[in-house]
Amino acid sequence: STAIDELTGVFNRRFFDNALERELKQASRRNREFSLLIVDIDNFKRVNDTHGHTTGDAVISALGKLLKRSIRSEDTPCRIGGEEFAVIFPETDPDGAMVVSEKIRSEFAKLKIAATDLSLSGGLATFPGDGKTAAELIDRADQMLYFAKYSGKNRVICYSQNKRRHIRYPLEWELKVTKNGGDSGKTKSQD
Ligand code: GH3
Ligand code: MG
Ligand code: MG
Repeated sequence: STAIDELTGVFNRRFFDNALERELKQASRRNREFSLLIVDIDNFKRVNDTHGHTTGDAVISALGKLLKRSIRSEDTPCRIGGEEFAVIFPETDPDGAMVVSEKIRSEFAKLKIAATDLSLSGGLATFPGDGKTAAELIDRADQMLYFAKYSGKNRVICYSQNKRRHIRYPLEWELKVTKNGGDSGKTKSQD
């Protein structure tokens, strides 16, 4: 299928983009909330380097399966990048999305694949409170994902529950990014 990612069995990036637009239209027409989770496996380069690409692939595939069994049938799990996934949760507020995200985070950390220590970080944003367009929601979930990485990884951070903290953190954020020699505001840390 052109909608399914072969390695993981979840939806692919193209499907995700369409699904997010569809959900936006539906939620705004019906005056409903929905939440967007973006997760990224922590220190994944190390997994590949230590255990090989095949084990790396097995870890990515295991996360896809974990997502599928952790969510409801109306939720949409997608692989949006190499070791990056997104889930759309219709009719789900920040608290509800946080509960399932925490479940995913903790279950992933329990997986045993080739004796690797696994963890993931995530960011959550909710329509319409945290963003009213696809770009805004992705951006906010992404910001929280990077916030999670910088504050120690193995955690999920929710935009709406961190608004007050978030307002105070961009300055510190910029400093940290620059210090790591990044060329843009989205450059990753060096562990
Ligand atoms: P961080 O904790 O900041 O996320 O660090 P990281 O090492 O996970 O981050 P980074 O994005 O630098 O590394 C991701 C790596 O994932 C780099 C790339 O080679 C690898 N990768 C991307 N797609 C695949 C894939 O399909 N299979 C395997 N085995 N590795 C992949
Ligand atoms: Mg990563
Ligand atoms: Mg990544």
